[in-house]
Amino acid sequence: MAKIIAFANQKGGVGKTTTAVNLAAGLFKNKKKTLLIDFDPQANATSATGIDLEKIENDSYDFLINNNIDVNKAIIRRDDDFDIIPSTTQLAGAEVELSNQSGRQFYLKKSLSDINAEYDFILIDNPPALGLLSLNALTAADSVLIPVQAEFFALEGLAQLIKTINLVKKHSNSYLTIEGILMTMTTHTKISRQVVSEIEGHFPKAAYKFTIPRSVRLAEAPSFGQSIFEFAGLSSGARAYNKLVKEIIKSDG
Ligand code: ADP
Ligand code: MG
Repeated sequence: MAKIIAFANQKGGVGKTTTAVNLAAGLFKNKKKTLLIDFDPQANATSATGIDLEKIENDSYDFLINNNIDVNKAIIRRDDDFDIIPSTTQLAGAEVELSNQSGRQFYLKKSLSDINAEYDFILIDNPPALGLLSLNALTAADSVLIPVQAEFFALEGLAQLIKTINLVKKHSNSYLTIEGILMTMTTHTKISRQVVSEIEGHFPKAAYKFTIPRSVRLAEAPSFGQSIFEFAGLSSGARAYNKLVKEIIKSDG
């Protein structure tokens, strides 16, 4: 059975997609069978992996909503890289369409049960909102990885997110755990260091002992459709994400 990890933070621009894509690439590099699900209508993860948009037959919307589709049409399988279920803007409609359905937060979990056994890891990149898409992801996941940008307001949004996670645990997924809190875009400034130590103080167990530094290479890689390991394998960003890869493999036993 795959370990399913959701990447969540209702704030945008904190590094969810960057972390999901590079972790997927790093796990694949370590011979783990890995599937990345782009669960954000903005489809940043889809473009970051450089897949041909023309090749998309079915997307994560079809995978989520359409019980009749062949899952094998939604998954883009790649011999030389991790697999991906891409997203397109049509996923935005899912929030409204599901809102009146009973069991609306269980759709993704159901869809995943067909392919769970095929993978070591399934990573779900979420939109910057705690709506039905994120709820579906948190309900389907074994754990949630929370990227937090090292800036002044970091802690405020985090409290809301933890509240949501606890609600999900109570109502739809009692097994959900926090995989870890990952500080991203850290710099050597005083405020960055303060925020990192504040988060470590609040979440001594959940906060990773390493951070992802702000790095131009990490921001550039997606425009080439490459992970940081392909684009700049010796960069500080690659070294930092490699630590995360090791940590995730270790945590899977
Ligand atoms: P989210 O998915 O949470 O909205 P992204 O991963 O898309 O966040 O990151 C937001 C922006 O910041 C993107 O342009 C991305 O390339 C850039 N970025 C992410 N992590 C870093 C980093 N460590 N250093 C520099 N730029 C980064
Ligand atoms: Mg994103």
